[in-house]
Amino acid sequence: MSNLRIFAVNHKKISSLHINNMCSSKIRASLKRLRLHVLLGRNYSSLPGLIGNDIKSLHSIINPPIAKIRNIGIMAHIDAGKTTTTERILYYSGYTRSLGDVDDGDTVTDFMAQERERGITIQSAAVTFDWKGYRINLIDTPGHVDFTLEVERCLRVLDGAVAVFDASAGVEAQTLTVWRQADKHKIPRICFLNKMDKIGASFNYAVESIREKLKAKPLLLQLPIGEGKTFKGVVDVVSKEKLLWNPNSDDGKDFERKPLLEMSDPELLKEITEARNALIEQVADLDDEFADLVLGEFSENFDLLPAEKLQTAVHRVTLAQTAVPVLCGSALKNKGVQPLLDAITMYLPSPEERNYEFLQWYKGDLCALAFKVLHDKQRGPLVFLRIYSGMIKRQLAIHNINGNCTERISRLLLPFADQHVEIPSLTAGNIALTVGLKNTATGDTIVSSKSSALAACRRAEREGEKKHRQSNEAERLLLAGVEIPEPVFFCTIEPPSVAKQPDLDHALKCLQREDPSLKVKLDPDSGQTILCGMGELHIEIIHDRIKREYGLETYLGPLQVAYRETILNSVRATDTLDRTLGDRRHLVTVELEAKSLETSSLLPVIEYAASVAEDLSQASREAIENGLHSACLQGPLLGSPIQDVAITLHSLVIHPGTSTAMISACVSRCLQKAGEVSELAFKSKPISGYGARKRPPKSV
Ligand code: GDP
Ligand code: MG
Repeated sequence: MSNLRIFAVNHKKISSLHINNMCSSKIRASLKRLRLHVLLGRNYSSLPGLIGNDIKSLHSIINPPIAKIRNIGIMAHIDAGKTTTTERILYYSGYTRSLGDVDDGDTVTDFMAQERERGITIQSAAVTFDWKGYRINLIDTPGHVDFTLEVERCLRVLDGAVAVFDASAGVEAQTLTVWRQADKHKIPRICFLNKMDKIGASFNYAVESIREKLKAKPLLLQLPIGEGKTFKGVVDVVSKEKLLWNPNSDDGKDFERKPLLEMSDPELLKEITEARNALIEQVADLDDEFADLVLGEFSENFDLLPAEKLQTAVHRVTLAQTAVPVLCGSALKNKGVQPLLDAITMYLPSPEERNYEFLQWYKGDLCALAFKVLHDKQRGPLVFLRIYSGMIKRQLAIHNINGNCTERISRLLLPFADQHVEIPSLTAGNIALTVGLKNTATGDTIVSSKSSALAACRRAEREGEKKHRQSNEAERLLLAGVEIPEPVFFCTIEPPSVAKQPDLDHALKCLQREDPSLKVKLDPDSGQTILCGMGELHIEIIHDRIKREYGLETYLGPLQVAYRETILNSVRATDTLDRTLGDRRHLVTVELEAKSLETSSLLPVIEYAASVAEDLSQASREAIENGLHSACLQGPLLGSPIQDVAITLHSLVIHPGTSTAMISACVSRCLQKAGEVSELAFKSKPISGYGARKRPPKSV
């Protein structure tokens, strides 16, 4: 058994390991076969926790106590060092044996080929590892603007996040966006000021920008020793220790932790004592329990306050999101990552400390969220699930609320990046990777059965009655109808030959399940397939993936932007239509006003002046609405749809006998006229993130 670690190594040859089912003789036999390959592939060390070679401890490895689970994301502006930090984390936790390097395209989390080529993280992958008895599930969130939907989706699954900053740049645009999204989902955070070794790195500047731009209260738990070229390590403000990394160590695994002493570091000790006192005061201001403690027992001398007391208070404050702990280091130079891991376990919450309202309705029954679907050639769709309550097992039948369908999980895996370990069951708080769910799409809510969903629904309804809520209960059971923005960029896509069209359709269907922000349409005129995506890069990546993963060389037409037009100021116009067809005279006169709408609306908001509304028949009203809607399909600038516009009909005179088609034609022409006379009032703009809508629940 002592060689089990080697057995667990070779992910290239065996995609999943049936550890639980395998008796030791089988393992030994496999070892002989596998040992040869070990040196060839990426070297993984033992499964975390298996170091003691004790197969019995596997159960606790697989289902750790919920209080010891941390579901964490790393969020950052592109290039802040998210991937490098993740790599170091996996290395120090014993998951990888060699340090991957984004600059060489050799990291675990950026495992898709295009990402390696581009050096950016697009596909977020969940990675599981252990650190000092804690189970950490790390979701590597994408950093590119085109993929904010992915970020949003990941955030829902997280109980906490680490925001990584480039210490020479402070808060950058993308961090701001993601920070707001994290606010929306109420995710406790800690900040890591990375790149402290870089020329121009400034701890104070970065902290100030967190205060200014993010409007957050930084809790300085560390101070750097040196900056830029002189950066050597950090001082732990809480414990008053200095952490120095050996300059000769090439992986930063060894560092020394020494208490600051009056004898050797009088200056630093003074500075840190002041920083610690300031931190204590700051935390006491935010946490009453801690304030009582400090003012009672330790008011005379803060130095006597034990580090653990301060740490638990910082944990509470982090959870309440009234302040954010700040740490610093250099992932590239291997400094400060281990204390960051300690901080993740110490300050970020476990799943049971998070308050998920819907859990009360499930009463311990299964409730999970499919937050990521990947397609694997051999195993078919792989669905990443966050389990909120209950338990999942292999061979379990589950019910999908969004799809209103029941299907079976055939196998259950723990997602150790691209190496997956097969397990029999998994409990609440964990992230699982399932095989066999063919109809589940990204964002779907999974429960144990239809009746369990109905029971939860009834409980929610009862609760709703108590609170006199009007909201749609079925919808509230859905964990994450991830808001899908309307795609902005589109182009035609063609297979290499007509015979390959079904293959292309299949590939696009699979890709759409993984990525709901990708839309595929059929041009009714030309019969061509149209790809609609969130950006140029998004479409390019889809094109690449079709080639790589489905072996199809496709051709893209020119990229087009889905512009929308809108009105900027108000315009009035009148129009008269007078036409005699046969012996029938059609005469309509209309006066309308178009103005911009504060809120977003794809359809025009139509209002009638009181005098018009008074004696307007239902048929005429419909004719007007049809006319205005059709006029809004083509704006005066580029012929793109008009949106965010309010139209008021000030007067309308209809000669008796006028057909409704003529009424439609008249108001439509009048609106076009308004657009033409005030062409400058129309502006074309690509609307991104517009028309957010949720995948609607089918009846439960
Ligand atoms: P991501 O885009 O946030 O995933 O950032 P990466 O991890 O890909 O890093 C972007 C670039 O910054 C790469 O060239 C890294 O080598 C570099 N980098 C990452 N961490 C550090 C650091 O601590 N110090 C310095 N000087 N460079 C770093
Ligand atoms: Mg990256």
